[in-house]
Amino acid sequence: MAAICAGRTAQEKRAPLEILLLETSRKVGAKILMSGGTRCNVTHKEVKPSDFQGGPRHFVKHVLEAFTPADAMGFFNGIGVELVLEPPGKFFPVSHSAQTVLDALIKEVGRAGTALKTDARVTDVKRSGDRFRLSGQGDAFCVSARKVIITTGGLSYPTTGSDGAGYRFASGFGHTIVGTHPALTPLLTNDRDWRNLSGLSLEARLTFSKDGRKQCENRGAFLFTHFGFSGPAALDISRHVATARPEEKPKVVISFLPGHREETLSRAVESEHVKMPKRHIQSVLVRELSLPGRFAETLLKKLGIDGTQTIGASSNETRRRLVHALLEYPLEVEGVYGYKKAEVTAGGVDLREVDVSTMESKLVAGLYFAGEVLDVDGRIGGFNFQWAWSTGALAGRGAARALVS
Ligand SMILES: Cc1cc2nc3c(=O)[nH]c(=O)nc-3n(C[C@H](O)[C@H](O)[C@H](O)COP(=O)(O)OP(=O)(O)OC[C@H]3O[C@@H](n4cnc5c(N)ncnc54)[C@H](O)[C@@H]3O)c2cc1C
Repeated sequence: MAAICAGRTAQEKRAPLEILLLETSRKVGAKILMSGGTRCNVTHKEVKPSDFQGGPRHFVKHVLEAFTPADAMGFFNGIGVELVLEPPGKFFPVSHSAQTVLDALIKEVGRAGTALKTDARVTDVKRSGDRFRLSGQGDAFCVSARKVIITTGGLSYPTTGSDGAGYRFASGFGHTIVGTHPALTPLLTNDRDWRNLSGLSLEARLTFSKDGRKQCENRGAFLFTHFGFSGPAALDISRHVATARPEEKPKVVISFLPGHREETLSRAVESEHVKMPKRHIQSVLVRELSLPGRFAETLLKKLGIDGTQTIGASSNETRRRLVHALLEYPLEVEGVYGYKKAEVTAGGVDLREVDVSTMESKLVAGLYFAGEVLDVDGRIGGFNFQWAWSTGALAGRGAARALVS
């Protein structure tokens, strides 16, 4: 996006610029191809600053207003990628293939007059007079440039080419790097009972608190895995787990029945107690509350409740404990999976050192940043790409305008 917007700006001003996009991998856009389950969730219907964590909200707001989701949709339509809306507001290409998005972007890079050099890993960026010198591996290149936009991403999924190089370049120029952590990554547990449910998924609500204060709440699909918990509800909470310190007493609480409140669930269970006293407790969970059988068996085992006992014979205390556990179970979370399976990186280049209108460094004239390398991470749903499109557009235009106006 940065390369395209820089090229388009130069074309509009009829001022030829030499723009070069350097990519470490053999192919560009690995993350686009793997995104959204290979369908690429390009953006979201509504994108608010509160959908993001990291740097100051006013900065994020300004960026999102300068290049909105509607602008992103217009841009993609303009390059031949028709988008389709899916609940709860995610936009995908109608082809349901991320390849469509990547192909269109690469074609547009060419149309905007930008050269793309792959197999070109930048290892060093240095100031040299009023220019920058970029040197790198590949066929040992050295490039001299008047403007540089750093769009190296973060540290997540290192196999895609993300090794944190951008943070190194930025800190070499004196930039502050806000501590990085894996985000949108699965949660780990040592609890064998939960791990044995691997492959089972249900709708849940996860609440994260620190020092007894609620920090965030996410409702969505929740998946048990052989190492812990995944699915959007777990991924969305992971950046909070990853950044919390043990002394802050981080706690994850899960509701396995997010559609219920304590009164409604108690009423449903008490009604079974009166109307179907011969029904087994496990059967109440499965038949009345539509919970999966394997899950019901595991939860009851963990609570020390005999699932074969009839609901009629159960004590008030047993039913109260059951209701409470279904709605507010303290989940045994040991940590997060890490960068290997993190969709994004939390932390990065401190936004206070970046110009909000152009993404230019406030410390080094001519140096720009865009995308995940900045200290912003969004929740699941197309928000991270929107951040990349918005900051990429601002940086590309900003760098080109500074040269042609
Ligand atoms: C599995 C997965 C699924 C995702 N799904 C979605 C989704 O559906 N919707 C969404 O909004 N977000 C999604 N994301 C997040 C999204 O992919 C990122 O937020 C986005 O790609 C960030 O864009 P970027 O350009 O900043 O960084 P990247 O996409 O990481 O691109 C950085 C590029 O820089 C290259 N590079 C790095 N260092 C160097 C160097 N030294 N020299 C030359 N090149 C270098 C890398 O090879 C890479 O190609 C997903 C991420 C993953 C991992």
